[in-house]
Amino acid sequence: MKLSQRAQKLEPSVTLAAAAKAKQLKSEGYDVLSLTVGEPDFPTPVNIQEAAVTSIHSGEASFYTQAAGIPELRRAVVDYMKKYYGVDYQVEETIVTDGAKFALYALFQAILDAGDEVIIPVPYWVSYAEQIKLAEGVPVFVEGQMANDFKVTPEQLEAARSEKTVAILLNSPSNPTGMIYTKEELRAIGEWAVEHGILIVADDIYGRLVYNGNHFTPMASISKAIRKNTLVINGVSKTYSMTGWRIGFAIGNKEIIAAMAKITSQSTSNPTAASQYAALEALTGEQDSVEEMRLAFEDRLNKLYPLVAAIPGVKLTKPQGAFYLFPNVAGTMALCGYDNVTTFVNDLLEEAHVATVTGAGFGSPENLRISYAADWDTLEEAVKRITAFVEKKRIK
Ligand code: PMP
Ligand code: GLU
Repeated sequence: MKLSQRAQKLEPSVTLAAAAKAKQLKSEGYDVLSLTVGEPDFPTPVNIQEAAVTSIHSGEASFYTQAAGIPELRRAVVDYMKKYYGVDYQVEETIVTDGAKFALYALFQAILDAGDEVIIPVPYWVSYAEQIKLAEGVPVFVEGQMANDFKVTPEQLEAARSEKTVAILLNSPSNPTGMIYTKEELRAIGEWAVEHGILIVADDIYGRLVYNGNHFTPMASISKAIRKNTLVINGVSKTYSMTGWRIGFAIGNKEIIAAMAKITSQSTSNPTAASQYAALEALTGEQDSVEEMRLAFEDRLNKLYPLVAAIPGVKLTKPQGAFYLFPNVAGTMALCGYDNVTTFVNDLLEEAHVATVTGAGFGSPENLRISYAADWDTLEEAVKRITAFVEKKRIK
């Protein structure tokens, strides 16, 4: 059968592939500990579940909605932006999407022509580059240095800028590193982008998962000029433990939002209606469960970080947000005679039955990603197994 060049060149999502492989081994009876996919392990809070059930029973969820989402939810997104960002938006500046992932997809389809460049700081979330390529754009990678907490500077961005640069992607707190840009760092990048008319895509999906007194500053809150130049990506998946419901948002320039709605109308039609009613409750209902989940992640981070940092050969800076550790394992691999992190991760899965994600998919071939969105017993046992695996394989 013929396959398009586009489909043939597309890399599958390594995070979803790693999760699927772990599930497959589990179904074959292996005792696999999966630290792969980035999704909270808590059930969606009951008030949110009930809002969806009510919308189903009342019949509201039976029908198509507006492509950009139900007006009540768009209004709730406006209120959310006011409450958490301190920024005023109009309803026309918001769109509800099938997960933040489709917000990004529709955005790149809406703004990129063939050959247009988008700057992506490395390490980066696995889907950015592939989605840009699907829109015939060109990802331009800028390496964040570990010594600078993997964050990029305006000088680095300027060196990567060309006539064709259309946008820069910023994801703070970051998947996979968990690092957060400070207000000053954001201002410097924001002003550079405004000066050159480059759209800032601010993927803020982990903005409320911040720990140990660290603080998330939204790019869009820095100044009026930067806000006008910023397209915010957000959603309910991580904050409210709603990955399966598939609801995200984009907030920013009206024309871009309208183009994204047009793309939605010709692709998915609208995000699932019942999920939109659930998301409405998530944004407008009680927020206690958000704090409970955040505290659970913080506790795991504080217990897990020293254990992972103590694995022989590992270099790791303590993350500030999200729910991932992204250790540099170059030293560990050298101790064990590996020169390829993907092979290392595969052997860890096959021999120690601990599933992690290769850093290669994030642009970092010396790292692997551990998601700590798993219960403590699983995390503790996983570190024991990784440590035992390293000791067993050690040739130095
Ligand atoms: N951005 C980042 C950085 C993510 O880690 C994820 C996780 N899937 C997404 C966007 C997309 O989230 P979702 O589609 O579940 O809303
Ligand atoms: N963002 C999550 C992760 O990085 C979910 C998986 C995905 O959408 O790729 O694991």
